[in-house]
Formats: sequence, structure tokens, C-alpha cells
Amino acid sequence: MDFHYTPRQLELRSKARELTEYLEKFEVDCETNNGLAPDVHDLVRKAVLESGLQAINMPREWGGAGLTITEQAIVQEQLGRLTGAIWDMVWRPANALRFCTPEQREKYLIPVIKGERRDCYAVTEPEAGSDPQNLMTIASKVDGGWVINGEKWFVTVGDHADFMILLAATEYGPSLFLVEKDLPGVRMERVPRFMHTFVYEHPEFTFTDVFVPDSNVLGGLGQGYDITRSWFTEERLMIAARTIGAAERGLELARDWAVTRHQFGQPIASFQLIQGMLADSAVDIAVNRAYTHQVAWEADQPATDRKTVHAKAAIAKLSASEASGRVIDRCVQIFGGRGYDRAYPVERLYRELRVDRIWEGTSEIQRIIIAGELIKRGIGVLSFPTEAVAR
Ligand SMILES: Cc1cc2nc3c(=O)[nH]c(=O)nc-3n(C[C@H](O)[C@H](O)[C@H](O)COP(=O)(O)OP(=O)(O)OC[C@H]3O[C@@H](n4cnc5c(N)ncnc54)[C@H](O)[C@@H]3O)c2cc1C
Repeated sequence: MDFHYTPRQLELRSKARELTEYLEKFEVDCETNNGLAPDVHDLVRKAVLESGLQAINMPREWGGAGLTITEQAIVQEQLGRLTGAIWDMVWRPANALRFCTPEQREKYLIPVIKGERRDCYAVTEPEAGSDPQNLMTIASKVDGGWVINGEKWFVTVGDHADFMILLAATEYGPSLFLVEKDLPGVRMERVPRFMHTFVYEHPEFTFTDVFVPDSNVLGGLGQGYDITRSWFTEERLMIAARTIGAAERGLELARDWAVTRHQFGQPIASFQLIQGMLADSAVDIAVNRAYTHQVAWEADQPATDRKTVHAKAAIAKLSASEASGRVIDRCVQIFGGRGYDRAYPVERLYRELRVDRIWEGTSEIQRIIIAGELIKRGIGVLSFPTEAVAR
């Protein structure tokens, strides 16, 4: 058993940290102005390209960084330190775009990898959230293409994206379509103000008789759910990694504050009630980082059972997002009144970590996946990876 990072992993971690530290300087601007100006987006784009961390989930031959899942988790953990979801400016195209035909790849995926265009993923609807089977957005076949009618909610990066990957019901089953945002009939109806202040918004869109050609079907008719579901393992592991990074930043700040802030003539770190919060936070972070690394490593092994890894990724997402929520709550407490001030990163992280228990499957949905795996296939989900390799 060897837990050392390889030289390459160490190099990736320090590159990601360097980029994160550069991006940190835009956090307060993002919070104060509810986003960043176009010239800042340009600066960030250049910095991302210089770091070589663009499209870390895409193969090198298409211009991505071509990282393994473990390497991606190492990078995402660093980026997760950022507030304002500035980590999302380090673009990571939707994995579904791997299903592009060669022509679609040239038009959609390659420009996204280069940072010239931006994608967004539109699955959720007013009546289809945790249960995406309840789709009301319909694509009807017409000569040469499809006409789409319906509504999509919570489309992250929808304000900034050029096109969306949209899930719609068809006569062949749920299917994905590449839909340019400026097509006639696509309307951004409402940009809700959420609890957090993210650099990108999550607008609601309506689609009225939107025509897309046959060539814009992504990954085959009827494949929509399978393609969307097939990437949950990776996406959930990345959420786990980012929330751990966020919690670690919170704890670093809270620890430094606790040893320097004096009350009753002594540093607040000398009070055992504060020490308890620091210790519990260290436990939450250390244990979740180890487990997330373990599952990311397993996801990289070709021989690993995919269903088991899927359930393990659900454990990682559930555990890390809930643990990080606990950590940041304690960090706010340690900062006292200052912890409630938006100028302090712990306040922003407190609001921002909340959504990690909701998106990419709520905590309840993760529990259902884990319990389902236990009931159907026994306790194999608890196995340590080396047991599978040794068999
Ligand atoms: C900021 C933000 C960004 C988002 N970005 C995107 C995006 O880019 N693209 C996209 O398509 N979607 C996006 N979403 C949508 C997100 O994935 C959904 O909000 C999430 O899946 C939950 O769906 P819902 O909000 O409809 O809640 P519901 O599904 O209505 O759930 C409400 C409550 O019921 C619980 N519940 C539901 N079913 C069960 C069950 N079977 N057993 C027990 N409890 C259950 C849930 O856990 C939850 O507590 C985003 C959401 C937010 C808040």
C-alpha cells in the first residue's frame, strides 16, 4: 500500500493551487458585483490556458488536459477552495460531449475545450427534479429535424453559455439535443437570485417551437438518461473533492483566527469548546479526503465493478458534502460576528456549500442509491479496493 502522491500528482496539485491563489483575488469583486466583468473573464481564460488545467476531463488529442479521475480529484480539491464558484471558470466540458459525432465535436466540443464557447446542461424541469423520468419537454420529429417545446430550470452557466445539452422526451425515449441558445423560440425567462453569489447564474428557459436539425441529436435517440447517468460517478467524486477543499480552507482560516483572536485575556484557541470544533472539523476533512481519494483511484481501475464504484461515489458525495457543511458551520461560529460578514471567505463558503447537498442528486437520493446497492448486492460496497484487485 503506497499513499504517496506521484511526482506528476504533486505537480498537478501545485499548479492547481497556484491557479487557485491567482483566482482568489477576484472573489470579493464577484461577491460585491454579483459576477465578474467581461475583461476579468478574459484574464481568467488566459490564466486557465496557461496553467494547462483547461478541460481536465477531456483527452489530450482533443486539446484537453487528459487527467485520470484521481488527478482530476486532486485538482478539483484545490479549486474547491474558491468562493463564488470561481472554480467553474476553470472549464470542464460536460462529459456527455464525448458522445459528439466527429462533426459535432468540431463545432461544439473542441471550441469548449479551447475556452472559446461554453456549454450548459439542461435536465431539470418544474415537475422533473430528483425524478427526471417526469419529463414534459418534448421533441417532435419533423422533416430534417426536431421541434422542441418545454421548460428547463436551474441551468447552471445558462446565462453565459453559447449552447445547451438539453434532455427531451421523444418517440424513441429521452434524448439529448445540442441547442444553440440564440435559436428562435429559446427564451431565458427568469434568473433567480439564489442563496449563493456564483460567478454564473442558473436561469430558467422556455422553448417554443425550437427547430434543431437531425445532426444535433447527441449520442443517439433514446440514450438521454443512460448518457446523463453514466457520468454521475465522476461528477459526484468531483463534488466530494471540491467540498473537501472548501472545508480545508475554512478550517485553515478558523484555526489561524482561533490562535490570534483574544477574548477573556487569552486566545480563543485555548478554550476547549473551540478546540472541540477545530478537532471535529479536522476529523471530517481527513476522513473524507482519504475516502474520496480511494474511490477516485478505484474509478481509474479498468477492472473495478462499475455499479459498486457508482455506489461508492454516492457515499463520497453524501459524506463529503455533509461533512463540509458541518465544518464550515463551525468555522463561521469560530469567527463569531465576523463569520457572518460577506467579506470573509467562511461566510461565503457557508452559503455556497449548501447546494452540494442538493445538486447532482440530493443527499436523500444518494442514500437511496447506497441502500439500494446494499439491499441488492450485499455489503461489497464496503470493500477496500485491494480486495477486488487481489481476487
Ligand atoms: C444552484 C443549482 C444549480 C443547478 N444546476 C443544474 C443544472 O445545471 N442542470 C440541471 O439540469 N439541474 C440543475 N439543478 C437542479 C438540481 O439537480 C435539482 O434541484 C435536484 O436534482 C433536486 O430536484 P428538485 O429541486 O426538483 O427537488 P425535488 O426532487 O422536488 O426534491 C424535494 C425534496 O424531496 C426529496 N426527495 C425527492 N425524491 C425523494 C425520494 N424518492 N425519497 C426521499 N426523498 C426524496 C429530495 O431529496 C428533496 O429533499 C441545479 C439546482 C440548483 C439549486
